Amino acid sequence: MQNGGDLVTFRKQLLGWFRQFQRELPWRKTRDPYRIWLSEIMLQQTRVAAVIPYYDRFLKRFPDVQALANAPEEEVLRLWSGLGYYRRARNLHKAAQQIMAKHGGQFPMTAGDVLALPGIGNYTAAAILSIAFGNKLAVLDGNVARVLARLAAIRGDVRESQRWQTLQDNANFFFDPDSPGDWNQAMMELGATLCTPKSPQCLLCPVAQFCEGRKLGIAESLPEKRKKRANVEVTLAAGVFADENGWTLLLPPPEEESTVALADYIPTLVSRLWHFPTVSVTGDPGAKLHATLRKLVRGGRNGNLRLVPAGQVRHTVTYRDITIVPFRINVKKLPRIKDARRVPLRDVSSALPVSNLTRKVARAVLAVSAAR
Ligand code: SF4
Repeated sequence: MQNGGDLVTFRKQLLGWFRQFQRELPWRKTRDPYRIWLSEIMLQQTRVAAVIPYYDRFLKRFPDVQALANAPEEEVLRLWSGLGYYRRARNLHKAAQQIMAKHGGQFPMTAGDVLALPGIGNYTAAAILSIAFGNKLAVLDGNVARVLARLAAIRGDVRESQRWQTLQDNANFFFDPDSPGDWNQAMMELGATLCTPKSPQCLLCPVAQFCEGRKLGIAESLPEKRKKRANVEVTLAAGVFADENGWTLLLPPPEEESTVALADYIPTLVSRLWHFPTVSVTGDPGAKLHATLRKLVRGGRNGNLRLVPAGQVRHTVTYRDITIVPFRINVKKLPRIKDARRVPLRDVSSALPVSNLTRKVARAVLAVSAAR
């Protein structure tokens, strides 16, 4: 960028494009900080199309900070069930309670107060404050970093701290102080719709004339890939009881002292939500699961549990490739297991918050005949 005139043109073109072509999204129709906050949290690592129905349902049940703060955590998690990364929901809930306790139910308007809330980092704080209140804070997340790395042809790992700071400086330089909310959304929209990770649509880009990456013919290769950690293979076995009326048992969210000897990653896998009894295995999955279930079941009258294998479920969490071997255990009457709750196997999420992994296991077991 050669001079101030270029910067004016750059801003004008990007904002003009955004105002004409932005997607219609439910959270773009409001300046309510609660709604913008909710959308930003839901959109972390999650696609827009997946977020929209959750966003609508969540707001119907919790229309404001107060309703969210007063709800039991289990109810909040149930409405989040299926969206993944459940820590987001727990933090949202805690933050709503803090807003009630410390800010009289009003969403705080300064970066310091917003950053003190659980689950809110620099990016989210800047997004909420600029869109809801017009604060002059430029956003920087993975999407915006990609756009900025391409515009200035910045090579190397953008997550490396000095490079990230350079990108933040660039974000601040381009930032239009006259339209903070629209500006930030325009940068995000460019990253989400045209300046995409693969095959950026430079021919449609409103700021293509300023893009160094494009001029050098390296736009698509930026930002450069980080070195990937090798994946670890993990095998688990899950026990799914099924009584004659189609009910099953789920265990409560695993905490530090769990009823089952859980490997440390199982709480992460089941997202600290309700789940089937699950153990990590190295040898015969049925044998270890059987031994664990016998310890778990009260009264010891289920010595001969018949475990019917129900195929395999694959799941990937960060660098772990997980294979779950679910077993169906047909029983006349569900056994007594400490703190376990009965739920219908056909709809395990009807009353309790469960992860997608638990739903996948339930589906696999349903495919196995009750008669076997
Ligand atoms: Fe991205 Fe292409 Fe626009 Fe550059 S010209 S910002 S690479 S879409």
